[in-house]
Amino acid sequence: MSTNTFAPVYNKNEGKAIEPLKKGSRVVVIGAGAFGGWTALYLLRAGFEVTLLDAWGPGNSRSSSGDETRVIRSTYGGNQFYFNLNVRALQLWKENEQQWKTKLFQNKGVLWFCYDEHTPLVEDSVPFAKAHGMEYEKLSTDELNKRYPILNTGDLHHAYLDQYGGCLRAREACQAVFRAFLNEGGQYLQSVVQPGKILNGRLEYILLANGNTLKANRFIFACGSWLGYLFPEILSNIITCSKQEVYYFGVPETQADQFDKFPVWVDVDGKNFYYGIPGNNYRGFKIGVDERGEPFHPSTGDRIYNTTVLEKARKFIAHRFPDLAKAPLVENRVCPYENSPDGNFLFDQHPEVDNILFLGGGSGHGFKHGPALGEMVSLIIEGKLKIPPFFLINRV
Ligand SMILES: Cc1cc2nc3c(=O)[nH]c(=O)nc-3n(C[C@H](O)[C@H](O)[C@H](O)COP(=O)(O)OP(=O)(O)OC[C@H]3O[C@@H](n4cnc5c(N)ncnc54)[C@H](O)[C@@H]3O)c2cc1C
Repeated sequence: MSTNTFAPVYNKNEGKAIEPLKKGSRVVVIGAGAFGGWTALYLLRAGFEVTLLDAWGPGNSRSSSGDETRVIRSTYGGNQFYFNLNVRALQLWKENEQQWKTKLFQNKGVLWFCYDEHTPLVEDSVPFAKAHGMEYEKLSTDELNKRYPILNTGDLHHAYLDQYGGCLRAREACQAVFRAFLNEGGQYLQSVVQPGKILNGRLEYILLANGNTLKANRFIFACGSWLGYLFPEILSNIITCSKQEVYYFGVPETQADQFDKFPVWVDVDGKNFYYGIPGNNYRGFKIGVDERGEPFHPSTGDRIYNTTVLEKARKFIAHRFPDLAKAPLVENRVCPYENSPDGNFLFDQHPEVDNILFLGGGSGHGFKHGPALGEMVSLIIEGKLKIPPFFLINRV
C-alpha cells in the first residue's frame, strides 16, 4: 500500500486530539456508505478489530452513496485542504482498484465551463494544481468548438480542462470496499442500529433490530442523512437532509460514442450550477442541478422527481448540448444530501459521550474523498493526527 500519507494543511495545533485507541481494540462503524465503508477498511488495516453495520447494505438505494456515478475533481476554489484531500483520495482510489482488479475510477477529465474572464472557483485552485504537477489546460471557445462539436459555446468565455479528474462508479465502489473489508478480516452485520445505554459518559452498547446488543471501545456513527434524526438533540441543526435529483437522458444512437467520450463537465455560471457525467456507466447522459432541494426524510421519502427541476435540467441540456434538445429521460434518481451548515465534513466526539464519534456532512461533495477521509479518521483514532477544527460540531 501507499507510503505517501495525507499532509494536512490546517494548523495542527488548532485541531482537537482524542484519546488514542490501542491496536486490537474493538471499533464499531455504523453505516456502510462511502464514509463508513472506507473508514472501517482503514481502521482494519491499522490493526483494529472492526465490525461494520448497515440497515440496508453498502451502497443501498436510500443512501447518498448509492447512485451509479460520482464526480471526482480536485478543484475547490481557494480551499487547499479539500484540494489536497482529493489528491490523496485519487491516489488511494487508484491503488485500491489496482489491488482489487476492479475498475472504479474513469479518468475522463473534468471540463469547467467559464462565462467570464475570471472564474475564482477554478482559477484559485490553479496554484495548488501546479504544486501537484496537475496543471489545467485553458481552452478558448475556438478550441472547444474544434474538440467538442456537440457543445454550444455561444455564451462561454473559455473552459478549463482538468485531465486528472473524472468519475467514480459509486454503487459498485461501495460494494468493492465492502468485499475488501470482508476479505481482509472485517465483520459485517445487517441491522438498523440504535444507541444503547449511556453510563458515566460512555456508550455501553448499541441495540440491533433483533434485540441483540453489541459492545465496543469506540462507536463511529457514519449514518449520512440519518445522523440528524438519530441524534436530534445534538445534530438536528448540524446535519439536514435535502432532496436532490439527477436525470439520465438518452443520447441519439448515431452520436452515442461522441457523447460517451465527452468529459465530466461543470457549468459555473454562478447561479444554478449544473454538472454532468456523460456515459455514466451506460445509464445515459447524466445531469445534476446542484441547488438545495426540499427537506427530505431519507427512510420514508418517495423517490419521485420534481417536474420543475426536471424541466430546468431539460432546458439547460438543450441549450448547452443542442443535439439533446429532444432527448428522452431514460432514468432518474433521487438522492439525499446530508448538508452541514458550511459544507465542511463532520467528524467529532459526542459532547457528552467520549466513545461516540460522528462522521458525515458530505454535503454533496463527499463521495470522492472516501478513502482519504477513511485513512484520516484512522490516523486520528490512532492518535497520529488531530481533528481539523473545521470538522468539529462547535465550529458554527
Ligand atoms: C445527487 C447527489 C450528487 C452527488 N454528487 C457527488 C459528486 O459528484 N462527487 C462527490 O464526491 N460526492 C457527491 N455527492 C455526495 C456524496 O454522494 C455523499 O457525500 C456521500 O455519498 C456520503 O456518504 P455517507 O457514507 O456519509 O452517507 P450514505 O452513503 O448515505 O451512507 C450512510 C449509510 O448509513 C446507513 N444507516 C443510516 N442510519 C443507520 C442506522 N441507524 N443503523 C444502521 N445503518 C444506518 C444507511 O443505510 C447508509 O448506507 C452527491 C450526493 C448526491 C445526493
